[in-house]
Amino acid sequence: MSCSVWPGLALAASILSAPAWSQPQVLLPATAVRVEGGFWGPRLAVITERTIPHSWAYMGWELRALEKANGREVTGDLNGTWGEANLYKFIETIAYSLARQPDPALEQRVDDIVRLVAGAQRPDGYVHAYITNSGKPPWDPEFLDGAHDGYVLGHLIEAALEYHSVTGKTALLEVARRAADQAWEHFLGPAGKSGFCGHAELEMALVELHRETGEARYLDLARAFVEWRGRGVVKPAGPTPRAYFQDQVPLREQVTLDGHAVRAIFFATGVADLALATGDSDYRLAANRFWDSAARRRMYVTGSVGSRAEHEAFGEDYELPQDGYTESCAACGLADFAQRMLLLERRAEYADVLERVLYNAVLHGLALDGTTTYYRNPLSDREHPRDNCWVCCPPNLSRTVLQAGRYAYAAAPAEVTLNLFVAGTATVALARGPVSLAVATAYPWEGNVQVTLTAVPAGEFALNLRLPGWCREATLQLNGTAVVPLPRDGRGYLRLARSWSAGDRVDLQMAMPVERLEANPNVQSCSGRVALQRGPLVYGFEGVDNDGNLDAVLARDPQFQVEAPQPDRLGGVVRIKARAVDGRTLVAVPFYALANRGASCQEVWLRQDGWRPTPTWWEGRLYRPWTPPGE
Ligand SMILES: [Zn+2]
Repeated sequence: MSCSVWPGLALAASILSAPAWSQPQVLLPATAVRVEGGFWGPRLAVITERTIPHSWAYMGWELRALEKANGREVTGDLNGTWGEANLYKFIETIAYSLARQPDPALEQRVDDIVRLVAGAQRPDGYVHAYITNSGKPPWDPEFLDGAHDGYVLGHLIEAALEYHSVTGKTALLEVARRAADQAWEHFLGPAGKSGFCGHAELEMALVELHRETGEARYLDLARAFVEWRGRGVVKPAGPTPRAYFQDQVPLREQVTLDGHAVRAIFFATGVADLALATGDSDYRLAANRFWDSAARRRMYVTGSVGSRAEHEAFGEDYELPQDGYTESCAACGLADFAQRMLLLERRAEYADVLERVLYNAVLHGLALDGTTTYYRNPLSDREHPRDNCWVCCPPNLSRTVLQAGRYAYAAAPAEVTLNLFVAGTATVALARGPVSLAVATAYPWEGNVQVTLTAVPAGEFALNLRLPGWCREATLQLNGTAVVPLPRDGRGYLRLARSWSAGDRVDLQMAMPVERLEANPNVQSCSGRVALQRGPLVYGFEGVDNDGNLDAVLARDPQFQVEAPQPDRLGGVVRIKARAVDGRTLVAVPFYALANRGASCQEVWLRQDGWRPTPTWWEGRLYRPWTPPGE
């Protein structure tokens, strides 16, 4: 990539003297990051080798619907209102996989589908085979809250952008643009009608399409969809409350993030995207309110959100039952929301949540073998087998996990930021030229991260390494020499700003003891209990490791033993052994690895001997390390 990604930004000394956080931050394109080895390499390979071949079996409804919308005779069941979104999430998954590993046959298969999608597009640009086949009207004003037109179009746009970015092919992007133009015409054209799709998703996709094309109309439409909330322009088709689709009051009066958790978190992400794209402080304030609500009062320790089965909704503050609803799609949504907030606010605490949800709730959703999935990810469960229920979550999980490398980095004109520690290489386009770097690490099993700059531009730039919120003890070395004191930037990063040479090496070493976490006393379901966390990984206890008996009380001094990973054990996890008050030895494995050995009971929060409530000094936190009273 060239300097042209920073148009209009003159290279001047002021760039470097400006506060680092004032520079606009961007994600790297999928093709700029190569994930290799370490923790994530094998996990991404499983998606390429197992998940994608497995997923084709679930595309029949969508492909038949597209065939029918092309005027062909088909036999067999067709899809439902939101089904085509699955196909587009799957194509986005394939795009990320192709960026890692070219596969001409797979690409050809997608190109054939792109032709079907193009053939199903109406002359006015509208494309949604389910609507066409069923004879229902596009953007049906009687069913805007449930018809999913915008949800499907949003995923089409996102798939098209990534497929174009990776392959350079424009056909799907052209279809998506024509469809977005039809949506603009329908809502904002001369005969435009106020409204919005009740399942948020299109908002963020339109901002992304605006970013790619520079077309103001896409941003205008995203803004309209957000601004029309709470103004009675969408007629609920049934008795569902308006909060279900974030329509209870206008945006500026929305204090908490409410309603259907996936819709709500996608809506919040769209608002954060609008804040990024427009600089409008109202959007930024709203995004921050949503963040505080979701991540500081309504998030499980694993990063899951959405605790109520009724309306699949967020509960009240601190309403976090251990067997809550916890849909995988909501966890994927929180990862994206955290990533946007990180770009918006540039504070490491957002990456702390991104890391928490990615390593725990999201990875838990997808089985280690890459095939079966979890729709729900409760922290306490009895005999909850994984399933092949092909709903919204499976392709959302695969497209989210495949972005681990992208989530790891952010770039500004003279800044390279590592938000996650992912083994592999990356090339970051700075204003002065590209920086190439290699990351070697066994994270999250160990706390050592080695970053080597393999190519650098002339002049000064900053390398920022996130110091995770869980980390209490760290050292940093530059070319073997300790950097003392740690160069903290006040926003949760270690910042090294200097002129670099190829071959320069930075070593970050983080102590990674087992921590016991306690929850804010308002979380009633965690009262008297602790959860184990080591580094970014939350641990869980599974019946299969503990004689089927998880009714245990952890000893005051559990004498934690951290076992070395064994490749044949759940893909090489580090196990933790702990002593119970009755002398039993309990075995914990990372939460994400639970339920890969058949149906088995599981618990994250165990009762703790000597626990008593400590209502002070929470400072808005939801979880914090616990130590026995008196220590
Ligand atoms: Zn889902």
